[in-house]
Amino acid sequence: MADIIQLLPDHVANQIAAGEVVQRPSSVVKELLENAIDAKASSITLLIKDAGKTLVQVTDNGMGMSTTDARLSFERHATSKIKVAEDLFNLNTKGFRGEALASIAAIAHVALKTKTNESEIGTALCIEGSKVISQDPAVVPCGTTIAVKNLFYNIPARRNFLKSNPVETRHIIDEFHRVALAHPQIAFTMLHNGSPVFELPVSNMRQRIVNIFGTKTNEKLVPVEEETDLVTIKGFVIKPDFARKSRGEQFFFVNNRFIKSAYLNHAVSSAFEGLIQNGTHPGYFLMLEVNPKSIDINIHPTKTEIKFDDEHALYAMLRATIKHSLGQFSIAPVLDFNKESSLETPYSYAGKRAVAPTIEVDRAFNPFTENKKQNAIQFPYKRDKKSANWEALYLGLNDGSSPPQEGQITFESEEVTGKLFDNKEQETTQQTFQLQNKYIVSPIKSGMMVIHQYRAHERILYEELLKNITLQQAVSQQLLFPLEVHLSKPNLKVLKSIQEQLEFTGFVFSNFTDETVSIEGIPVALVESQVPQVLENLVADVVAEIPEANFSQNDLLVKSLARSMAIKAGVALNKEEREHLVNKLFLCKEPSVSPSNKPVLVTLDAIAMDKKFV
Ligand code: ADP
Ligand code: MG
Repeated sequence: MADIIQLLPDHVANQIAAGEVVQRPSSVVKELLENAIDAKASSITLLIKDAGKTLVQVTDNGMGMSTTDARLSFERHATSKIKVAEDLFNLNTKGFRGEALASIAAIAHVALKTKTNESEIGTALCIEGSKVISQDPAVVPCGTTIAVKNLFYNIPARRNFLKSNPVETRHIIDEFHRVALAHPQIAFTMLHNGSPVFELPVSNMRQRIVNIFGTKTNEKLVPVEEETDLVTIKGFVIKPDFARKSRGEQFFFVNNRFIKSAYLNHAVSSAFEGLIQNGTHPGYFLMLEVNPKSIDINIHPTKTEIKFDDEHALYAMLRATIKHSLGQFSIAPVLDFNKESSLETPYSYAGKRAVAPTIEVDRAFNPFTENKKQNAIQFPYKRDKKSANWEALYLGLNDGSSPPQEGQITFESEEVTGKLFDNKEQETTQQTFQLQNKYIVSPIKSGMMVIHQYRAHERILYEELLKNITLQQAVSQQLLFPLEVHLSKPNLKVLKSIQEQLEFTGFVFSNFTDETVSIEGIPVALVESQVPQVLENLVADVVAEIPEANFSQNDLLVKSLARSMAIKAGVALNKEEREHLVNKLFLCKEPSVSPSNKPVLVTLDAIAMDKKFV
């Protein structure tokens, strides 16, 4: 039999590849937008006609291409993004297969105009069905414009397969959202048949979400933040009240790339369990940052699926982080009688059963001896019912330290002096130590606890200030002499815009001039000398975010204040200060995490320690 195998001509191979890469106009949109981002553009314009069936055009102000590169970019497996196989495991670009432009050029009329920064003159190139029709020098601005016309002109079956214009437009807008959300630092514009659909200026993530989904969205967002060795999680979830029947606003980005993951979606949904109605779906915008080496994005040609090395850990982390964020949000000024009680429990204790209280009578107890250690029922820190969980940590810590002695005389005295009671009130027999002026260490029943002093104070201030600002009940300390603080004009304007809310935290502003503000009162927890810095930080934080909806703005202000007011690491604390801090911490709703979701304390149990000594 004669040889029958032959190599497919390039244009046929490209058409076959196109079947994988380009399903519809929105696929072209995605590839072109991603190329523009890889080219480091800071401004990108997408223009479509007839739902992209007639034209998809993307203009960027990125690095552009040389004449040779412009020509090469349409060859299959032509890419500037990887050189050796190892590069595949360290990808920071969207593209790397070098297939998109070749595929698109096989099934459409493509016009490219491009110029690099270094060259005087650019290149214009026309390609139809993989054939170069013309190539000319052209006077064009730096960057690249690629116009893709008459998609599938040479494959009528596929053209007929396209859906109605509204459906195809929907697909395009979805792709546009995904790319624009992942890159708020890039300005995007989208026009359809000549009319603007989106105009998105450079902004932060919150602002980008609001610009896309509408002003109302702002008040629905609950910030999420967590940083661990495995992953950094940032972004927002939508408050449970606004969960929807459709899965519209669900976005995962891994290293700035939109991905679909039923598994991670499940992690988020399970964090919302009990907070949303059956049949509704939580909304989220979550940016995950992981080491590129720990993922494989190569498993799907259009790259929306991804494989993680340590999926289980990621699942657990994501779920816990979102639970925390929702827990913090439950401090919001909403009276919620159906609040899930597990939200109030520090997460490491969530699954544990409550310890039944035990009462022990210490026969050796003598109220007249100075040795307070003999008191059998001791609670080292002041507490109220909120801190009930923490009692379990301490309960029984001193058991056995003074075994009841038979025959010893016991007093049953009615006589109680005021002094004795006073002492008892302030008594915190628990030992605390300071480590490196940074951590407070304290023995607990199961071992020991290490508290991060800055974060603990941040948590305390955050809850206090949030309560004040929400209930509008702040106490202010009057300054002896009004304090004049200098700020730039725009910063003063910002300060003025949040004046009212700040006054609920205890600030009293008396006079705004062009460059200064006079302050007559400040929050009780604030020291006068800190005021200028605190205000400066506050304004910077407000500028970086969107000040609008009440909850988010209060939360933002309070977080910022707590951040700059909290005692920093490096400050030595005396015994009273340490104890005060610990007491206050355990009166907080969420003592175990800081307002930005970082751990406030860790416990080391004796069993783990024992293991170290074998
Ligand atoms: P990939 O993105 O996978 O590398 P493409 O076919 O999408 O493959 O693009 C091929 C090459 O063309 C890219 O590697 C890049 O060098 C160049 N290129 C494509 N679009 C642009 C653009 N907008 N600006 C600059 N270079 C571009
Ligand atoms: Mg590409």
